Amino acid sequence: MWFAKSLVPGRTAYPVSGLPLEYPEVLLPRGFPSDIIRGVKAVIFQAPFDVRIEEVPEPVLRAETDAIVKVELSAICGSDLHPYRGREIGIEPGTVMGHEFLGEVVECGRGVRKFQPGALVVAPFTTSCGVCSFCAIGLTARCEQGELFGWIENGRGLDGAQAEYVRVPLADTTLVTVPDRTAREAALFAGDILSTGLFTADMADVGKGSVVAVLGCGPVGLMAVVACRFRGAERVFAIEPGAERRRLAESFGAVGIDLDEAVVARVEEETRGKGMDCVLEMVGSPQATRLGIDILRPGGTLAAAGVHTEAEFAFSPGEAYDKNLTYRAGRCSVRSYMDEALELAGDSELDVARIVTDRVHLDDAAQAYRRFDRREGGCVKVLLLPE
Ligand SMILES: [Zn+2]
Ligand SMILES: [Zn+2]
Repeated sequence: MWFAKSLVPGRTAYPVSGLPLEYPEVLLPRGFPSDIIRGVKAVIFQAPFDVRIEEVPEPVLRAETDAIVKVELSAICGSDLHPYRGREIGIEPGTVMGHEFLGEVVECGRGVRKFQPGALVVAPFTTSCGVCSFCAIGLTARCEQGELFGWIENGRGLDGAQAEYVRVPLADTTLVTVPDRTAREAALFAGDILSTGLFTADMADVGKGSVVAVLGCGPVGLMAVVACRFRGAERVFAIEPGAERRRLAESFGAVGIDLDEAVVARVEEETRGKGMDCVLEMVGSPQATRLGIDILRPGGTLAAAGVHTEAEFAFSPGEAYDKNLTYRAGRCSVRSYMDEALELAGDSELDVARIVTDRVHLDDAAQAYRRFDRREGGCVKVLLLPE
């Protein structure tokens, strides 16, 4: 076991709230003296529309509650496109991208009790402590010590997992063991898109007999279709311009509606003028919110899982009153949903991983980002394989 007082050369040290600002010691990977740091491959954010594959210092333990995971599978998420397109700003050039990953624990700090090297794990996109007041009510997405993988801003934050290795803080309360018989590609989805689908269905009050619209059928929207069916929705309408995505939604039991259609009229017809009980807005644009309000029935619930960056609502307080509207929004507390999501992921007949269209080597991530951004060749979900 090697100890060093300094952090990895070239990396900015940052405090993790709740932990001592200066760690008493930093453990380096076994077998590597403190002055030899290996380089590992990672997808780096450089600028909008410019991600690169570069060598970065191998992640090392920085706190006793950290683990290092060798990434077997990572993915490009729809929300990676927000910084990629320059729509969400603040991410520092040089940040390792990505927050969906599954892999093998290769190193644990001395404070890690639940995991040992060799464990196959999947992680939610944020870390969480499991004991703060937010974690205690299941709101792990807002954990007092939580950090989002793949986001470093003003020197603070956490490198991501589109890399060969990733450092996982608060490993015991963040990581989850992948069940033996669960297909790895499906299990990966429990860490983000499948959990977010379940969470959004719950935000929208989807239950037995609900008539539901899912607006936008990217990967998360498709998992929302799965979740609505799982929660007992009677009918699920998938409103989506892409034919391939509509076809996938239909394969999970939805009725596809093209955005080119007169959507409001079609919904009126399908619901005998009543409107949808629940609308799951998976896009994150004012236009999508507006359409959601227009097709929602009085007393219905609109849930927004899309990342919104605008300053104002696309509907007025008066409209909300007149509709007896319930509106919910926010980041999924993935850690709280993962056990249930892993159960769903283990259903081989359901086969949630059927949405994967592209499996590419990590070296080809830059082209994969481009394809995903432009939806080239019906690209829906991209997996990145480090080996
Ligand atoms: Zn994501
Ligand atoms: Zn917490």
